[in-house]
Amino acid sequence: MLSYRHAYHAGNHADVLKHLTLVLTLDYFNQKPAPYWYIDTHAGPGSYRLDQGPAARTGEFETGIGKIAGIKPRPKSVQRFLESVGCLGKTGLPTSYPGSPDIAQRLLRDTDRLRLFELHPTDFDALDKHFAHVGRRAQVKKTDGFAALKALLPPPTRRAVVLIDPPYEVKQDYDTLIATLEDGLKRFPTGCFLVWYPIIGRPESRRLPKKLLKLGASTQSWLHATLEVAPPAADGLGMTGSGMFVLNPPWTLAEQLAEALPWLCQHMGAGAPARYQLDSHST
Ligand code: SAM
Repeated sequence: MLSYRHAYHAGNHADVLKHLTLVLTLDYFNQKPAPYWYIDTHAGPGSYRLDQGPAARTGEFETGIGKIAGIKPRPKSVQRFLESVGCLGKTGLPTSYPGSPDIAQRLLRDTDRLRLFELHPTDFDALDKHFAHVGRRAQVKKTDGFAALKALLPPPTRRAVVLIDPPYEVKQDYDTLIATLEDGLKRFPTGCFLVWYPIIGRPESRRLPKKLLKLGASTQSWLHATLEVAPPAADGLGMTGSGMFVLNPPWTLAEQLAEALPWLCQHMGAGAPARYQLDSHST
């Protein structure tokens, strides 16, 4: 089943948490000259129009990027995120918003490599077109990103940021995610794995953080951040927030998110104050 299209959700509160974490992580990786790989197992189309099409119809970006783009003063980490996604213009929101592959493409150096996977035929075509000019530095494949990761780890550079951002539209995604991470850690114990997940009423979603924390305990370090912009709905349906779980995070990330999350909560609540949680551990 491939009915999920991220274009309907582009720039929403979940993208803010995910892309903020991604930008800060890539910035950290860029501090060392040694090249690295960016692997995006569920890449989406690459970028999104906000002024027309699905994103304009749902207006979900108003729950995320639309709420914070114009607010000052802002923490340094939020400033850096807004700058990286092109949302610092004087005229308010731009007409487009980058997806995770485009953010990576903006931040990676010439020596770094991108490996991108997308299964939806329309989104794959858009992604492939988006990266057509990049050459061999970026590879785009229409294949299952969970399965493809196995063959890529460990990367030749022994440095990599792996973003795993499934739609969770099928229940199996939750179990496949855990199996993929277990396998990924065996192949590449020092890899930096960034996992996004939704906070929704579904039992699999409620159980996921515990499973991720158990996995985290087997690594040297992990970080867990959540951002909930609305209280749980009475019917238990709908996404009220999301979480990022990072295995082997940059050591600077906890401090940067500790600065950003309270500020985001201050400005992103919907009907009630937003809430965040931030935990991390390193040995
Ligand atoms: N990472 C993107 C971003 O931040 O801009 C958004 C990705 S969206 C949440 C998830 C994407 O995964 C969808 O475009 C969907 O078509 C794709 N997808 C679903 N199952 C997949 C699979 N097994 N392998 C690769 N892509 C998949």
